[in-house]
Amino acid sequence: PVALELKELAKRYPTRDGGMVQAVASVSATIRQGEFIAILGPSGCGKSTLLMMIAGLVRPSSGSLTFGKPSHDTHPDFGIVFQDPVLFPWRTVQANVELPGEVVGMPREQRARKARELIQLVGLAGFEQQLPSELSGGMQQRVAIARSLMLDPQLILMDEPFGALDAMTREQMNLEVQRISLESGATVVFVTHSIAEAAFLANRVFVMSGRPSTVREIVQVDIERP
Ligand code: ADP
Ligand code: ADP
Repeated sequence: PVALELKELAKRYPTRDGGMVQAVASVSATIRQGEFIAILGPSGCGKSTLLMMIAGLVRPSSGSLTFGKPSHDTHPDFGIVFQDPVLFPWRTVQANVELPGEVVGMPREQRARKARELIQLVGLAGFEQQLPSELSGGMQQRVAIARSLMLDPQLILMDEPFGALDAMTREQMNLEVQRISLESGATVVFVTHSIAEAAFLANRVFVMSGRPSTVREIVQVDIERP
């Protein structure tokens, strides 16, 4: 089944001098449920913009975006993870992960149990009562990942989630994300500028190339998973 259909999706931003910059030219793609898509390209080529359009946080200048069945343009539940973990500094790890459950009115017991499971899943069991400031950058990012999974999203969006981490932690986190995607069956769209990361994680890689002109292209590479 189709998770997501992008049709000639494009974004232009107004610039300060009154002009326009073409951030994403025209992207068409069909993403199936359970796929792991990496969006790869140099910085400034429009990766974040494409992801933010998928998230519904940036409005496309033209083109369309549909979820699941055609004509279904409402957003499914999605989890999102940014390069820098945006955690609430005065909330414990447990309370940070529980937050999306609180927002949708999940009963206290249920959300506490769910949060504990997720904290375990990302390898942070024992750190529930710590504050973010007491954790390393990698651990904070794990908290953000756990929180993004709180509502069992069908769609997980990640924008260079490990960009700020050292190589070792990064490798560990890659394994973790791979495991989570396999276990949850969620569709993942993962922005990265690392070819190695894209090749390791994704079953399809969309390569966006920066050009001297304002045109951006997307190239699709299919990778067979073992
Ligand atoms: P397929 O039909 O096998 O999907 P295509 O060669 O039509 O392959 O497209 C390959 C990729 O390039 C697709 O992801 C598609 O979204 C993208 N693509 C095709 N045409 C354009 C375009 N004009 N601008 C940007 N991306 C494009
Ligand atoms: P990437 O994620 O690949 O680094 P972005 O999507 O962040 O690329 O940016 C693509 C292009 O759009 C860049 O030229 C960037 O300067 C421009 N851009 C991004 N966000 C905005 C914005 N809010 N306003 C104006 N220009 C923007």
